[in-house]
Amino acid sequence: MAKIQTPQPVRGTQDIFGEEQERFQHVVETFEHVRRLYGFKGVEMPVFEPTAVFARSLGETTDVVSKEMYTFEDRGGDSLTLRPEYTAGISRAFLTNGWQQHMPLKLSAHGPIFRYERPQKGRYRQFHQLDAEIIGASEATADVELLCFADQLLQELGIADGVTLQLNTLGDAESRDAWRGALVEHFQAHRKDLSEDSQDRLDRNPLRILDSKERQDRPIADSAPDIDAFLSSEAKEFFAQVTEGLDACGVAWTRNSRLVRGLDYYRHTAFEFVTDRLGAQGTVLAGGRYDGLIETLGGPATPAVGWAAGIERLGMLLTEVPEASMEIAIVPMGDEATVKALSVANQMRKTGFSADIFGSGKFKKRMARANQVGALAAIIIGEDELASGKLQFKNLASGEQTALDVPEIIEKMWELRFSDDLDDLDSELLTLEQDVPAAGEND
Ligand code: ATP
Ligand code: MG
Repeated sequence: MAKIQTPQPVRGTQDIFGEEQERFQHVVETFEHVRRLYGFKGVEMPVFEPTAVFARSLGETTDVVSKEMYTFEDRGGDSLTLRPEYTAGISRAFLTNGWQQHMPLKLSAHGPIFRYERPQKGRYRQFHQLDAEIIGASEATADVELLCFADQLLQELGIADGVTLQLNTLGDAESRDAWRGALVEHFQAHRKDLSEDSQDRLDRNPLRILDSKERQDRPIADSAPDIDAFLSSEAKEFFAQVTEGLDACGVAWTRNSRLVRGLDYYRHTAFEFVTDRLGAQGTVLAGGRYDGLIETLGGPATPAVGWAAGIERLGMLLTEVPEASMEIAIVPMGDEATVKALSVANQMRKTGFSADIFGSGKFKKRMARANQVGALAAIIIGEDELASGKLQFKNLASGEQTALDVPEIIEKMWELRFSDDLDDLDSELLTLEQDVPAAGEND
């Protein structure tokens, strides 16, 4: 018989498992924790939208719309697109659900995103984003709050040290138009030296030449005029409020006057958190103020600001990944003991302890695995234990072993978990003490 060929995964997709999955999970859980601290409501969004949602929001000239979207016709003949970002879909939802009544609305989401790109390390065709948006807030305090959220997320993930916040302003419409005029003039003068892509951008979306990655464009982009000379006094004041807010909150930032968000509706704040630890895929979190977007979707003028971060890229930066530990390892010897093990495991889990049955292989091997998964204790069940109803309870840290019934085991487990938590707390306090300068040290 001919050998059946196993279907292969789609290029640029990932099957995330083991340590990688622990990293992924830790990023998502930390995000969920921090977004609650900031009062962001979670939102679940469709994975696909009518193509027009993205084509109109992002604009036909963007890389995403012109080259990267997964667009298809469904059986009813409608053109649909797998979401290449969250913002456009959330803005659509804001309008179609009449969420205006909840403004200012702080929303967060996370899940898969699809872009047809050349796959490489940190760049996939299905990847995953964290997303945070504030809709209906025109004040700079919203930008600051959102950046504090991003900064705290990176702090809590323990990766803030290697990541820099690059910040820019694109000004208001008036500043931006004046700047755009000067840019076009500058790029026109160097037109023949620009890459083909950038010559094309010059006609359609000149700002985007500034963040071109083509080597031949760089000197021309780098010598282009800054926006600073064109900022209106209102735009200057807005940027000053953002930077003052960041300074007041202790969020470090650097100015990058080349940083643009290419889309026409972007205003004022634009930012990226960048690291040099991921090669070419160095941007881990990016966003800005998109005051004009909701209007381009047919809604009323609505100020908004947001960011998105790649979960995989954040996961790759983690140096400490909390291990998923199993608290109790149950080791039954024999068939009858295995049935008992199932019911004991059930009782433990219902009480709130994680428990797993190590039911096959040599006794020594099973105990070794129990240690490997970081179990606090093992419950060993053999013929004697079945007869007496007292199970062997082994504290895996001390090696101490006693015969106990199930209620006694539960009591012991509470004690063990409590002292384990205390140990953790002790070591946390110790590092805190080391971080706090001794009295007088700062004078
Ligand atoms: P890049 O310049 O790396 O292509 P981008 O400007 O296209 O990024 P955004 O649209 O701002 O990225 O998306 C926000 C974040 O999503 C990025 O900072 C990055 O962390 C992540 N990201 C974007 N594209 C991918 C991808 N193909 N694979 C993995 N993560 C991605
Ligand atoms: Mg991209």
